[in-house]
Amino acid sequence: MDLSIIIPLYNEADSLPELKAWIDRSLQGFTYELIFVDDGSTDGSWEAIRQMSGQVHGIRFRRNYGKSAALYEGFSAARGDIVVTMDADLQDSPEEIPEMVRMIREEGYDLVSGWKQHRQDNALTKNLPSKLYNWTARKVTGIKLHDMNCGLKAYKADVVKNIEVYGEMHRYIPYLAQNAGFGKIGEKPVHHQKRKYGVSKFGMDRFVHGFLDLMSLWFLSRFGSKPMHFFGTSGTLMFLIGFVMTVWIIVAKLVHQAQGLKYRAVTEQPLFYLALLAVVLGVMLFLAGFLGELVSRNAPERNRYQIKEHFSTKP
Ligand code: UDP
Ligand code: MG
Repeated sequence: MDLSIIIPLYNEADSLPELKAWIDRSLQGFTYELIFVDDGSTDGSWEAIRQMSGQVHGIRFRRNYGKSAALYEGFSAARGDIVVTMDADLQDSPEEIPEMVRMIREEGYDLVSGWKQHRQDNALTKNLPSKLYNWTARKVTGIKLHDMNCGLKAYKADVVKNIEVYGEMHRYIPYLAQNAGFGKIGEKPVHHQKRKYGVSKFGMDRFVHGFLDLMSLWFLSRFGSKPMHFFGTSGTLMFLIGFVMTVWIIVAKLVHQAQGLKYRAVTEQPLFYLALLAVVLGVMLFLAGFLGELVSRNAPERNRYQIKEHFSTKP
């Protein structure tokens, strides 16, 4: 089978019949399956999926888990050589899919992400924060995408079978892919439509959560399997700063005493409190490093590597 089209959806009943017809029109000449993941809809979306004809695979959650969970189940079920994800709300155009597939097949991309160049959403609450967010994501991940969180993406099947989307990490799938060793990531400007039916499922909190998740992923990819490198370095630095200050305070006092000059009590100097703080923080950071090492020593994925190829010769 050429393609698996994965469509996560939450209360999108009105859009589904049109979406199905639009996809079928756009993908003539391909063999494909449609995987609808109903993320706990309460509006008849599931009935709409049940009535569809063609190669359709429906997965229905008992409750709403979120888009990442829906994508995770979709990825596990996918059987096509190339896996495509798209939103169910008719904002993403399936007419873009053939070109994305061509880029993967002929230009060798591991992943092609859509880029909503002319985004049809509210300028103040979505487009502007999204620009800022994407700029940060580019700086942190080093992946040059304009629209990291675009719902419309195409992947080599290998990619989705080797990454694990969880929490709200669907925003950073290109980063997950890169961390798993799939480095050839491309981008294609795609048409974007206004939402025709229903309402957006994400509010402004997406940017706060998105930023925190980005920090977590960055930390995990750099120090996940060696937390002591982070905490040990900053802890040592802190401790040294505190130590130098302490020595300075003691020496200064002794020198003043020896020369018979006036001197203050140690606890009357601001420097004393700074030194105290730095030493305590340094020790705490070190302790966090040791705890981190204990935790990561027990992590089941501590020795899970992406092996691309394998061979051995007979004697
Ligand atoms: N979605 C989902 N589970 C959720 C929230 C959203 O499966 O908990 C689906 C939603 O139905 C849509 C896609 O994720 O197909 C993108 O959501 P939405 O259109 O609300 O996001 P926006 O376009 O506003 O960024
Ligand atoms: Mg949408």
